[in-house]
Amino acid sequence: MSQDVTGTRPVASSDADDDVMIEVEGLKTYYDDSGLFSKTPVKAVDGVSFEINRGETLGLVGESGCGKTTLGRTLLRLEDATAGEIRFDGTDITELDGTELQHWRRNAQMVFQDPDSSLNDRMTIGEIIREPLDVHDWKTPRERRQRVKELLATVGLQREHYYRYPHQFSGGQRQRISIARTLALEPDFVVLDEPVSALDVSVQAEIINLLEDLQEEFGLTYLFIAHDLSVVRYLCDRVAVMYLGNIMEIGPTEELFEKPANPYTHALLSAIPEPDPTVERDRITLHGTPPNPRYPPTGCPFSTRCPVRIRPEEYRDLDDELWTRLVTLRDLINERKRAELSIRERVRSKLGKDIRFGAIDETFEELFGDLDVPSKVQSVLDEIEAHLHDQNEEAALSLFNEEFASVCDREPPEYYEVSNSGRESFCHRHSVDYESPDTVFDRRNQ
Ligand code: SF4
Repeated sequence: MSQDVTGTRPVASSDADDDVMIEVEGLKTYYDDSGLFSKTPVKAVDGVSFEINRGETLGLVGESGCGKTTLGRTLLRLEDATAGEIRFDGTDITELDGTELQHWRRNAQMVFQDPDSSLNDRMTIGEIIREPLDVHDWKTPRERRQRVKELLATVGLQREHYYRYPHQFSGGQRQRISIARTLALEPDFVVLDEPVSALDVSVQAEIINLLEDLQEEFGLTYLFIAHDLSVVRYLCDRVAVMYLGNIMEIGPTEELFEKPANPYTHALLSAIPEPDPTVERDRITLHGTPPNPRYPPTGCPFSTRCPVRIRPEEYRDLDDELWTRLVTLRDLINERKRAELSIRERVRSKLGKDIRFGAIDETFEELFGDLDVPSKVQSVLDEIEAHLHDQNEEAALSLFNEEFASVCDREPPEYYEVSNSGRESFCHRHSVDYESPDTVFDRRNQ
């Protein structure tokens, strides 16, 4: 594995000669739904950079809420980018308006997850597929009708389906109708947002095959958003793995599945069921839930859950379970620091009664009571507990960080090239200063 730092921007192409169609650089999409209590925006996409080559399928995977769909929608200008560039054949589409934006919208289309909600039940199939042609005033009405009939045939439906309604079709057929509508204006680029996840397993393969055939016939370029990793492995040329609005790893599909480099990719892939019961797989269980995208960690986005987070030198040999509980304590303090106390809680606090997160003593007892805590750690915990009793979460957190935080908590990683195919991973552990994620996982599995 190479240790080359490539800066903050991943080199996403698998081959230097590839014909790049879309270049995304430093893209951020923040939702400023500040509401009543907070002015901090939700950082749905938090500075991603990658390229999509003409004619390829780039998979986008990650847990729900990681920003996949927002990223797809931002590429199509269905959401406004907060910062960064999306260049299509060299033109920054985040700057387009008027006719140029309309042209981009013709050229870039989306297939949605749920064909039921994306098709209007009051319109005939013909009207649904023809709608984008009408909106863009495409040729004459007669030619539009003819085009719709051709499209029906292209996606494996009958011309006579033109006058029927969506409820007369099965789920798979309705997704074919959505695809026909998507193709109506002959786009070059299509975002497929979980296009088969709402369908029966038996129908999924038919739609996947159709998407492959259409790509070949029309030279389409796909961004395939999915959580079903086996479909991604089958269909995609390259994969980008997202976590909390960031791309953690990106590279050629087979290589990434065979030998994941990033700790998050390791964890994600370890959850795929193994079809052969004789093959043992070490499943990586992640503790907790992803952080609130309104308050992402300062350092690595995965630092609050990473099973191989770098520890400060003096705690390198600390018991893993104790380390996990310390991380849980930090999350609790963070939550507590952010929480606005309700009036009732303020009153309870003034009266010296327990407030949220239970009694502080009980929390510490639950977290550490059954563990053998070294005296050095115990004395820090005692000080943290005292700060929490004084409701000084700020001091508790800063003491915690001073003692237990590492580079993973303090600094966002760089992208490191981890193979000579251009695969990149966003993790401090690829630096020569630390053990690689593979080495740590291997040691733990011995
Ligand atoms: S940078 Fe640290 S926390 Fe992030 S994935 Fe790498 S080891 Fe884990």
